[in-house]
Amino acid sequence: MDFQLTSDQQLIRDTAREFAERELAPKAHARDRSDAFPVEELRALARLGLLGVNIPETYGGSQAGVVAYSLAMTEVARVDASVSVAMAVTNMVGEIICRFGAEEQKRAFVPRLTSGEAVAGAFGLSEPQAGSDPSAMATTATRTQTGFRLDGAKQWITSGDRAGVIIVWAKTDRAAGSKGISAFIVPGGTPGLSAGKPEDKLGLRGSSTVPLLLENCEVPESALLGKLGGGLQVALTALDGGRIGIASQALGLGRAALEHATAYAKERHQFGRPLAANQAIEFKLADAATELEAARLLTLRAALYKERDRSFTREASMAKLYASEAAGRACDMAVQVFGGYGYTREFPVERYFRDVRVTRIYEGTSEVQRIVIARALLKQAGIGT
Ligand SMILES: Cc1cc2nc3c(=O)[nH]c(=O)nc-3n(C[C@H](O)[C@H](O)[C@H](O)COP(=O)(O)OP(=O)(O)OC[C@H]3O[C@@H](n4cnc5c(N)ncnc54)[C@H](O)[C@@H]3O)c2cc1C
Repeated sequence: MDFQLTSDQQLIRDTAREFAERELAPKAHARDRSDAFPVEELRALARLGLLGVNIPETYGGSQAGVVAYSLAMTEVARVDASVSVAMAVTNMVGEIICRFGAEEQKRAFVPRLTSGEAVAGAFGLSEPQAGSDPSAMATTATRTQTGFRLDGAKQWITSGDRAGVIIVWAKTDRAAGSKGISAFIVPGGTPGLSAGKPEDKLGLRGSSTVPLLLENCEVPESALLGKLGGGLQVALTALDGGRIGIASQALGLGRAALEHATAYAKERHQFGRPLAANQAIEFKLADAATELEAARLLTLRAALYKERDRSFTREASMAKLYASEAAGRACDMAVQVFGGYGYTREFPVERYFRDVRVTRIYEGTSEVQRIVIARALLKQAGIGT
């Protein structure tokens, strides 16, 4: 086992860190307060190659691999998780088009994502009545003479009102259950596609999460991504990779919380000594540091497996489950170490505490990750479901 990062991985990590500290940090608090969507910040990420970290250079990506992507995500999330979620979905959409798309689709859409021209990518899977169980979706794609007509409603779509490239899942055969779902590439602005009012969220306030309405939304035959009826496979493959991104995001938030808590514990005095002079405080910091390190190793293992084309479904779920829960504990701990000040907007730990909560919900809740892990375990033990 080699724990040493390559020089390319270090370069991507350092580039993301410097950019986040120089360009994102000064306005992260303001973006959170004003719900400002980070258009310019995403374009700047594109210029640095961070909207296509694991995408071939032919399509404008950095071709730096999954480990590099994870490192970059962590660095961006450490400073501004709202920017990192738009970055994560854009990378995921570009990758999934590269993986399942025809050559013309890759050439038409992926460079628009990696260059920032599309601003962001969006992933239109969830619906009001289909969250953890996407096969319950009600959106339909009906054949027309030239392609398909999409009708239905999507829910919770990150950057859905800003994205130039949206993947939309719909039922092409209602009788075929999960085998009747197909994926489509829908450019933002397509007639019949509209975004509803952005959700008023607990955290990630600088990201946009919207419902999408599809009414007589006509797309050509060439919009079909992957095989007809193969959409669920496209979604599950994307989510496996996406979970590495969310684990990395959680890790960044957890690390930020721990750094702030550590600094504050050294500087704040009570009873005539620093908070850190109390073992009760030291132990909190030590537990968070240990859990975040375990989360980091799980996340890097999943990234490495994906990079080496090994099966990584179970590993990605373990990483996402553990990193999101460990980061949640770290952010909660940081608020506790800051005491009353941690409960105010004066210090960023309050933002981390709000932002981290969703990492246990999106791209599969913690319960769904446990289902995935348990199924793999039972299958391995020959008790497969
Ligand atoms: C900020 C934000 C951004 C998002 N971005 C996107 C996006 O870009 N694209 C997209 O498609 N979706 C997106 N989502 C949706 C997200 O993926 C879903 O919210 C998530 O999958 C859960 O679905 P749900 O909210 O419908 O909850 P439900 O599926 O209704 O689940 C409710 C609760 O029941 C539990 N539960 C459900 N089934 C089981 C079971 N079988 N066993 C045990 N417990 C179970 C869940 O774990 C959860 O705790 C986003 C959500 C948020 C909040």
